[in-house]
Amino acid sequence: MKHEELLRKAYDPETFRAEAHQLVDLLADSLNKASNGDLKEVLSWCEPAQAFNEVESLASNPKELFESTLKRCIQLHDPRFLGHQITPPLPIAALAGLFSDFVNNGMGVYEMGMAGTAMERFVIQKVAKQMNLGDNADGVLTSGGSLGNLTALLAARSKIADADVWNTGTDEPYSVMVSDQAHYCVDRSVRIMGWGADGTVLVPTDECYRMDIDVMKRSYLEARQRGRKVIAVIGSACCTSTGTFDDLKRISDFCQENELWFHVDGAHGGACAFSKKYKYLIDGIEFADSVVMDFHKLLMTPAITTALIFRNGFDGYQAFAQKAQYLWSEAETPEWFNLAKRTFECTKTMMSLKVFSILTNYGTEIFDANVTKLTDLAKAFAANIREQPDFEVAVEPETNIVCYRYVGDCSSGLSLNDLNRQLRQSILTKGNFYIVQTLLNGDVWLRSTISNPFTTIEHLQALLRDIRKLAMSH
Ligand SMILES: *Cc1c(COP(=O)(O)O)cnc(C)c1O
Repeated sequence: MKHEELLRKAYDPETFRAEAHQLVDLLADSLNKASNGDLKEVLSWCEPAQAFNEVESLASNPKELFESTLKRCIQLHDPRFLGHQITPPLPIAALAGLFSDFVNNGMGVYEMGMAGTAMERFVIQKVAKQMNLGDNADGVLTSGGSLGNLTALLAARSKIADADVWNTGTDEPYSVMVSDQAHYCVDRSVRIMGWGADGTVLVPTDECYRMDIDVMKRSYLEARQRGRKVIAVIGSACCTSTGTFDDLKRISDFCQENELWFHVDGAHGGACAFSKKYKYLIDGIEFADSVVMDFHKLLMTPAITTALIFRNGFDGYQAFAQKAQYLWSEAETPEWFNLAKRTFECTKTMMSLKVFSILTNYGTEIFDANVTKLTDLAKAFAANIREQPDFEVAVEPETNIVCYRYVGDCSSGLSLNDLNRQLRQSILTKGNFYIVQTLLNGDVWLRSTISNPFTTIEHLQALLRDIRKLAMSH
């Protein structure tokens, strides 16, 4: 085919129309099956080498390509999806994603993304209000909590560190404090900033995996005695493995007394701001200097969509600027509408539309409905596990994450850790449930994030029966 002809064909509007209709039919059918429990498996396990060998045979016409790819996808809309922290997206938000991909407006400078930029401000203000961050709060959407946390820490460094690190680099032993259950992206962020492994002062947690505040105070003094210059404390709301919330109020008091930056990693549980019933879990978030919250963990938004909010909106302009610029020169005015001033991303997708489409169609009430229902069910699941002598729960769940393990009989003489590791592997390859595992104090626990609002206690009881049956045959 001639080049010109090839290009015309690839952009043909009528082909697009027909293929898009087919795709939506495929996805709607899949949603229907998943919600009615008509899918055979939640995932169809395939070894990596085999998946790679199959790639070429996947690619034929678009209809078949999407059909065969879907068969290799883990089905988030299936109520038996009980694994990692990611939400089954609402169809309207997925359509917003298609729209964003099609128009391909980059959100770095205002004129490239006028509609999306305005919506982004609206979405940020909505979340800030829900968290009671006050009238000066402002921020941006970023591609993920990991990038959001790094950006918040860059702003903290700019504001608190005594050296102008942005311009001169530094050998100063700056540090941040965070619990030993924090997400690994905090440690990575610190290393990216050049402070090495010692830049993260890990604070031990109590028996519920919550940061021990008394120990934190001692760790702070010890770190200072070692010569570390602590600039910030990060509260986990919640931590990733068990979903436990740190005591944000007490961390905030400590930060205020010691003039430290208070950052809240609310990637997962910041969403509780929308739940009337569970909002108390994040009491104290209103005093945070910066907060990160993912929409793609609990709020039915496609990945990857994160809010990064500063209580004092001006702080957001300091992440990528020289120290303490309160007096803006002409070239460095804090323009909310030119988003690249506050984010590492240059070409940024129109992620605001995904959230806005949900808000405008269903209001914040749908967030409340989802967060509250999932958390209620996680608690009911834990209570149910406790009634079964051959299972145990690691810790009372505070959010939709439950850690548990099988402690009953098995035919082989495996240790509990090896047994639970093997059970999780068998569940994965069997494919009728999806669960993950985690390590707590060196022990293996099964871990489920209840993400689908149509999962019921009956699904969870069936999961336990499956695990028990597998254990008996081990
Ligand atoms: C998921 C998670 C992250 C990472 O967020 P991404 O959006 O996956 O980059 C960071 N912190 C916590 C507490 C998390 O649960």
